[in-house]
Amino acid sequence: VSAFDERAVRATALAGQRQLDLLLVSNLINVRYLCGFTGTNGLCLVAPDRRVFITDFRYVERARSEVPGYDLVRGKQDLLESVVDVLKESNRSLRLGFDDAHLAVKAHRRLSEMLPADTELVPASGLVEELRAVKDDGELESIRQATALTDDLYRWLAGEFGLAGRTEAEVARALERGAEDKGAEAAFPPIVAAAENGALPHAVSRDVAIQRDTLVVVDFGCRIDGYNSDCTRTFSTGSLDTEAAEVYELVRSAQEAAVGAVRAGAEGKGVDAVARTAIERAGRGDEFGHGTGHGVGLEVHEAPRLAPTAEGNLEARNVVTVEPGVYLPGRFGVRIEDLVVVREDGCETLSDLPRELVTV
Ligand code: ZN
Ligand code: ZN
Repeated sequence: VSAFDERAVRATALAGQRQLDLLLVSNLINVRYLCGFTGTNGLCLVAPDRRVFITDFRYVERARSEVPGYDLVRGKQDLLESVVDVLKESNRSLRLGFDDAHLAVKAHRRLSEMLPADTELVPASGLVEELRAVKDDGELESIRQATALTDDLYRWLAGEFGLAGRTEAEVARALERGAEDKGAEAAFPPIVAAAENGALPHAVSRDVAIQRDTLVVVDFGCRIDGYNSDCTRTFSTGSLDTEAAEVYELVRSAQEAAVGAVRAGAEGKGVDAVARTAIERAGRGDEFGHGTGHGVGLEVHEAPRLAPTAEGNLEARNVVTVEPGVYLPGRFGVRIEDLVVVREDGCETLSDLPRELVTV
């Protein structure tokens, strides 16, 4: 049984629990997850007794090799019309679940106009995303590889490449190139943010030279076989004032406490609270303005979330970041981010980099 076969079985089981006869998956990341297709135009329809993949003429050959086990339909210009043709064949009333978060309002309206009157369009919100949150062995292996390469590039950065005297943008480009040289790619534009730029959680790397005796936030990940890693380390470029050193230690201990709280069954908001409480007790709650973590997989940000507003509990084989930060506007920021796999009795940290302050 292939991983894709298993995913289709899980998807139809979950759809069945929601009283859906059929699931229409249109978001390309969800399509890739469910059936393995890597092209840029394709839809799949899955039911317990039927799997149909629809794409246009450009991708028919690719689909033949990437999507075994599906009836392949060479779609019309508008793939939705072909969905309607497939549904009309069945000749019975159907409840059709669709990716409501991704199907544009216009496409939804057109689809509902074309569908037979006895077919009901039902939002299947987050159904495939829910499956994606629990990783299988193959997915964990790809994420492990992406993390190992990210670790290597951090070690190279802290060792021979260095930070002080280089511009933020130069360091960011070097990390991207490092990933590409190994046949991978950067998961997102790397953030290299020194001193006051590091106080912006979503900083953009500048053409500004990194000074000595400051903190530098580096947030970077690689993508291998579609799967991402995500890691942040904050480096020192010399000697730090007492407050910067204190903030670093605070974030480090909050991050370690939150990692220690990750296990199957823990609430997403509970893990967040562990990091947040540690930072609040130090009187810096206002300086930690984002969630503690997020799921990572085919997307850099996916389910589940670790945040004050997160619903639900962690499950074994979730892959999440743990990344509290403290940001002092106009001065500096500190963030430490590791990727962990949720296990029944705790978690496994995938990255293998020190959390102690490293001076570059
Ligand atoms: Zn990150
Ligand atoms: Zn992250």
